[in-house]
Amino acid sequence: MNTTRKCLLFVVLVGLTAAMAAAQSWNHDPNSPIGPNRWGFLGGNYNSFATCGSIVGASTSLTEVGKKQTPVDVLPPTAITSVLQDIAFRYRDTPFVVENTGHVVEVPYENGSEIRIGPGLPDEYKLLQFHFHAPSEHTIKGKLADAELHLVHQNALGELAVVGVLLQIDNAHPNPLFDTIMFGAPLNSGDHELAGEINARDLLPRSRSYYTYTGSLTTPPCTEGVHWFVMAQAVGISKAAVDRLHLIVSMFPNYGGYPNNNRPVRPLNGRAVLFNRE
Ligand SMILES: [Zn+2]
Repeated sequence: MNTTRKCLLFVVLVGLTAAMAAAQSWNHDPNSPIGPNRWGFLGGNYNSFATCGSIVGASTSLTEVGKKQTPVDVLPPTAITSVLQDIAFRYRDTPFVVENTGHVVEVPYENGSEIRIGPGLPDEYKLLQFHFHAPSEHTIKGKLADAELHLVHQNALGELAVVGVLLQIDNAHPNPLFDTIMFGAPLNSGDHELAGEINARDLLPRSRSYYTYTGSLTTPPCTEGVHWFVMAQAVGISKAAVDRLHLIVSMFPNYGGYPNNNRPVRPLNGRAVLFNRE
């Protein structure tokens, strides 16, 4: 190969690598070219984020873009009250580790904890991790909560079930575990192993009433077929801990100081939201 061709190949390779890297960078700022309004176009050559679609109404000719996306606005008067199975939470303690993933603050969970939403084997979902968004992703009658907890579970078929808990500032009754996690979380990407064990049970509201619908991951690649359970009762948190979460988000690489990591709500597109009273 002559020098010019080698040089060209090098340039092409560098260009490709840069394009692939760019395809994987995204943030939560709606005004950013790599923000949620553009996620559907950031999936690189394989269009791997196409399901994220575009909030501004553009469609892609390559594939059907996501029509069953998360988050959504939950409207209590229009949610259909149904008699569904209560969620049985069987959470054990787990070693306390907090990760800063560059998109969320996350706590990985040791094997052995699960939820059960029915009698069959596919109704048993193992808890993999939980993480936080601020402000909330789901809205209730158009109103955002101060933050949202997502407990991510998977069953034997590989299906995901996410339990969402809305978190609302209540300095009189702040959740102590939320404080501990936010003040233990690293400011830069990476893990912090902390002393002792924690239990995700301590982040749940007292009432087990929930809204449920079928949606997606709320971050790229926005994969659909996720079973969502949004708890009806919010949990109180301290303002100091929410401020800390916003500070951590503002320091994520590619966020340019943008302090929020919530995806804006997406249309229901005819999906029903069901309500199960405990
Ligand atoms: Zn989430």
